Amino acid sequence: MRIADYSVTKAVLERHGFTFKKSFGQNFLTDTNILQKIVDTAEIDKNVNVIEIGPGIGALTEFLAENAAEVMAFEIDDRLVPILEDTLRDHENVNVINEDVLKADLQTRVKEFKNPELPIKVVANLPYYITTPIESKIPFAEFVVMMQKEVADRISAEPNSKAYGSLSIAVQYYMTAKVAFVVPRTVFVPAPNVDSAILKMTRREQPLVEVKDEDFLFRVAKASFVHRRKTLWNNLTNHFGKSEEVKTKLEQALEIADIKPSIRGEALSISDFAHLSDALSEAGL
Ligand code: SAM
Repeated sequence: MRIADYSVTKAVLERHGFTFKKSFGQNFLTDTNILQKIVDTAEIDKNVNVIEIGPGIGALTEFLAENAAEVMAFEIDDRLVPILEDTLRDHENVNVINEDVLKADLQTRVKEFKNPELPIKVVANLPYYITTPIESKIPFAEFVVMMQKEVADRISAEPNSKAYGSLSIAVQYYMTAKVAFVVPRTVFVPAPNVDSAILKMTRREQPLVEVKDEDFLFRVAKASFVHRRKTLWNNLTNHFGKSEEVKTKLEQALEIADIKPSIRGEALSISDFAHLSDALSEAGL
């Protein structure tokens, strides 16, 4: 029997009198096939250390512990700590840390792995409220993360698609991002209102494109998608201003970047955005 078997999950929750806390995004997985697929997607073996975010009652942790060298699991909810001590008592290679992962000093923590020289992978079934791209806050090379399908689609989207936007650009600039598979809402207790997806992200050795000012690139990208149905020109003048001086600079920059003002932001690749942002800053915007 596995922790994620529905009857075991129910029994654990009852035994400990656990009540779900919505604010922590607590939806626990009860499908062992999906857990195995997560481990396979992340390519976890005994030569890999894992950081897990949000172990819950240990459904995924159990699979990770069996396959990885060691698991360091960050759980924000202190009510889950005694439950995890119970459910994972047979796994000596798991270290549960009762901390908010977003506030944890991960660089120091990872020195606590018995074999700190092994590669580290981050695996998580993320609560839906963590919407900011975690990979910018968590400095590791590989992530396999379950999240709201809609967010996974936006992160991994290609140009000229509905889901493509500033989030795709902010993540894909640093990482490759691919949806590995979709997870229906019905396999969670309690069932959330939306489906999930497993997103695999790998940090690029170098950012996808060369750009003079990264923050400006992200600002230009964000501004270009404020009104998705409007043209790039409309969005840029809304953002930078509509004076004749600004318009002249915008026209020049678009010409240098070889981009038509009449297109929409969604038609531009990350490389186009890099050219555009360099040309805009060159023009003094
Ligand atoms: N991994 C478990 C599973 O698949 O069944 C639980 C997943 S549940 C969607 C998310 C878990 O993350 C909860 O246990 C929640 O308490 C925990 N959590 C939420 N925010 C967190 C944070 N900032 N740091 C660490 N854990 C967090």
